[in-house]
Amino acid sequence: MFVREIGVPVTRLKGVGPATAAQLARLEVRTVGELLTLWPRDWDDRTREQSFSAFNAFPKITVRAKVSAHDWFGFGRMRTLKLVLQDSEGVLAELPCFNRPFLERQFPVGSAVVVHGSFHWKYGSIQASAFEIEPEEEAESKVLPVYPLTAGLAQNLLRKLVLRALSEYGKGIDTELPEKVRRERQIPPKAEVLRMMHAPESLEEADKARKALVFEEFWLFELAIGKRSLERRGKLPGQGDGTASSGPGFTPTPLQSALLQRLPFALTEDQKSALGDIGGDFDSNIPMARLLQGDVGSGKTLVAFMAALRAVEGGGQAALLAPTELLARQHAENSSRLLEPLGVRLAFLTGNLKAAGRSKLLAELAEGKIDIVIGTHALFSKGVRYKNLRFAMIDEQHRFGVLQRSAIIEKGTEGDPQRRPPHLLMMSATPIPRTLALSVFGDLDVSVIRTMPPGRKPIITHLTRHGNEGNLYGFVGRELAAGRQAYFVYPLIEESETLSLKSAAAMFEHLKTRVFPGYPCALIHSQVEEEEQRRIMAEFRSGAVSILVATSVVEVGVDVPNATCMVIEHAERFGLAALHQLRGRVGRGSLQSYCFLVYAANLTEDAKARLKVMHETTDGFVIAEEDLKIRGPGDIAGIRQSGYLAFDLADPLRDREILEDARNSAFTYLLEELS
Ligand code: ADP
Ligand code: MG
Repeated sequence: MFVREIGVPVTRLKGVGPATAAQLARLEVRTVGELLTLWPRDWDDRTREQSFSAFNAFPKITVRAKVSAHDWFGFGRMRTLKLVLQDSEGVLAELPCFNRPFLERQFPVGSAVVVHGSFHWKYGSIQASAFEIEPEEEAESKVLPVYPLTAGLAQNLLRKLVLRALSEYGKGIDTELPEKVRRERQIPPKAEVLRMMHAPESLEEADKARKALVFEEFWLFELAIGKRSLERRGKLPGQGDGTASSGPGFTPTPLQSALLQRLPFALTEDQKSALGDIGGDFDSNIPMARLLQGDVGSGKTLVAFMAALRAVEGGGQAALLAPTELLARQHAENSSRLLEPLGVRLAFLTGNLKAAGRSKLLAELAEGKIDIVIGTHALFSKGVRYKNLRFAMIDEQHRFGVLQRSAIIEKGTEGDPQRRPPHLLMMSATPIPRTLALSVFGDLDVSVIRTMPPGRKPIITHLTRHGNEGNLYGFVGRELAAGRQAYFVYPLIEESETLSLKSAAAMFEHLKTRVFPGYPCALIHSQVEEEEQRRIMAEFRSGAVSILVATSVVEVGVDVPNATCMVIEHAERFGLAALHQLRGRVGRGSLQSYCFLVYAANLTEDAKARLKVMHETTDGFVIAEEDLKIRGPGDIAGIRQSGYLAFDLADPLRDREILEDARNSAFTYLLEELS
């Protein structure tokens, strides 16, 4: 039987009455199986004895010592005992015994003890803030599990119950991993792994057990992904990724050639190889599910347009979904410039489209009079019908949840469930480390654009301390005088009463009237009306506006190659991913561009680390890795919230090496089993 299948109620265990059962239920523990898989959140190592002098090196230490004196402090009812201990190296420590006057009798001067606790330097001595003390002869040297607790349930009781469950039910537990895999990875049988988790002999053993469980969890997950992928398209995910020239190679179709001829530049090698991968998907008759990864400014849009042409030539319709109005509009403008002259029929659909225009557009979509439609999530809302949606592109896909993906697939098969789902191309500039992308996006294929279009100069990044903006404003002024444009980004739209931060609205006034009076300035943020946003962006793109003051609405996708300065004030308030995206708004042409990060005094350690990374590198993949280190197993670009990652003990961010290993192992197993 697998451990989770042990459905015996915990109340069968000796020592679990109704009260304890209720407390356990609050930890979601109702069966013995659930009790055995209530994982310790940490372990307390009492096997290694230290001297008090090590107090600073560990959060908690275990010390063998002698009581050298009883001391008292405070007066009257506040009078409190203090045990003075001396360890074998002669180092002294003091234990204030609040509410524990009975310790005086229990530990007379001269008695030998073992104390375990966290110690600090306070009032000129080493003092314990929290401790457990035992007579030396009773002290057991052990590694104790520390469980997540609910009020009223003591660690000691929980430890006892788990051990009882282990000894009564441990024998019959089977391992979920195939025997062969388990042996290969030298993973002990499941019952032994559980013992190592709940009653380890050393921290190393506990860690080994945790890793074994993580491996198992990932392995089973990857096995499921591999199976699904084999069913969908007869191969495993990751086979034939577009990173090398493994793809079928790219031969443009007539419409694609026509577009290429209109461009003032050639495709980069990576763009070609991505298009090769995409062409292969179209040819293969298996619904495409591909992630196109490429750093900001690497030219993903063009790849999407080219792919859309291919779908249109095949007689289908294509849809391009963007996360913001602003970005959708920009794509619409680019496509009308690039694609309309080729005779492609385009439409732009957002939630704000007025009723009359909307119903006309919807009718045309349903009749197949529109080839490519571009818009926000409105593209896939109810009431929108496609004649023959064959290809859907999602820009900045990390901004969307899992739901959209299935909504899109449904649109493609609406009215005719027999029809194959549309090809799906997802674009992301969030450089998710590769392993993560694979686990997060399941069975997606991945194409990567690694090299930037030629002629780009690396952006020069300066850190400027709050109060020294004078020089930087001067610098930006000279760029403006040379005909360039600049962004100024702020964390807030308007002044806030609680936060003393510069706001976009206030700084807009200041920059316009005081700092750069000669230059046209505009203000854009999420509360500006759509019509107005559109006018402003058009003016910024045409160069009629020189300075765009904004919040992070300009973070995704905006593409104005003549803008060479990105000034981010209160840069310490932005996350690494956002800073990288914002910086990516400049350096999009052949002009030298600059990014100024203005930061306030009293930075937190994390903020310091983020700014340092931004200063040192412009490589999105490096930044993503650093982000991972700084935030630890936190959230990367909202992935965690997206609901993709629902593991029990495993953490794809922290445990990504195990993830990779488990994936390889599971896929090898699948292939061997099939052959
Ligand atoms: P992103 O990958 O961030 O979406 P875009 O698609 O917005 O990047 O492209 C950034 C800029 O690079 C655009 O101005 C685009 O016209 C330009 N571009 C795209 N491909 C090439 C290329 N092969 N050579 C030169 N410039 C290119
Ligand atoms: Mg883009």
